[in-house]
Amino acid sequence: MLKVREYGESDGIIILFTPLQGKLPALVKGMRKPQSRLRSGTQQLCCSRFLLYQGRSWPRVIQCELITLYPRLRERAEFLPWALYLAALVEAALPPREPSPSLYFLLKESLRLLPLLDPEMLIRTFEAQTLKILGWEPCLDRCVLCRQPLPEGSRVSFVPSAGGVLCEGCLSTYTFQGAVYQVSPGSLKVWEQLEGSRWWRKLFRLQVGPNFRKELAQIIPAFLEYYLGEKIAARDLIYKIGGLSE
Ligand SMILES: [Zn+2]
Repeated sequence: MLKVREYGESDGIIILFTPLQGKLPALVKGMRKPQSRLRSGTQQLCCSRFLLYQGRSWPRVIQCELITLYPRLRERAEFLPWALYLAALVEAALPPREPSPSLYFLLKESLRLLPLLDPEMLIRTFEAQTLKILGWEPCLDRCVLCRQPLPEGSRVSFVPSAGGVLCEGCLSTYTFQGAVYQVSPGSLKVWEQLEGSRWWRKLFRLQVGPNFRKELAQIIPAFLEYYLGEKIAARDLIYKIGGLSE
C-alpha cells in the first residue's frame, strides 16, 4: 500500500502496489469508521491480500487480510519518513497499471530491511535499483559520449542530463543545460555495487566512508529526479528528521 487519502464522509482511496498489475487505485467504503473490518489491512505501508470488485469508476475493496504491518519499522518512529520516501518514489516513478514485479520485490524487501541495515545506504540502493529496473541506469565506468575509459584516480564530471560521466574533452563541447558534479571515481564504484544483483547481501557488509556518502547523496537523487522530472517532497523530510548526508 503506497498511499491513503480520505474520500467522502467515511470512505478512502488507497493506492495499492501489486506485483502483477502495478499501481492500482481502489475505493474502500466506510474505511474510516472505527468498526470497519477493512481498517487494519488498508493502512499505509502495510502488506495485505485484497479482494477487489470492479465498480463503475474505481475498483472497490470487498475484503482484505493483513499480512504484515512491518512491526520492526513501526517500533522505531525515526524510520517512518524514510519508508514514506521509498513509497513516494515508487508512486512517482512507475506509471499507473504498469506491472513491475522487480520493483514490488525491491519495496517489500526494503521496508522489511530498513530497520536492520544501514538506512542511508539502503535508501541509496533503493534509488540505484529503481533506476536500473526502469532502464535509466547511468553510464559510470566510461565517458557516455566517446565511450573512452576515464583516467584513474582523478575526479570525474557526472552530468545527469548526459546520462552519466563525461571525459574532459566531451564536457568542453557538451552543449546541453544542466548540473555538472565533480565526483571521485570511488563513489561511482560504490554506485555500481548498489545497483548490482543480490544487493541485500552486499548491504550487510558494505562499509562506505563519509565523503562517498556525501557525494552519493547528491548525485543519485539528482540523477533520479532529472529522469523523473520532479522532486520527491518526502525526501526533504528525511534530511530534516533523519540526519542523512546532504
Ligand atoms: Zn568523452
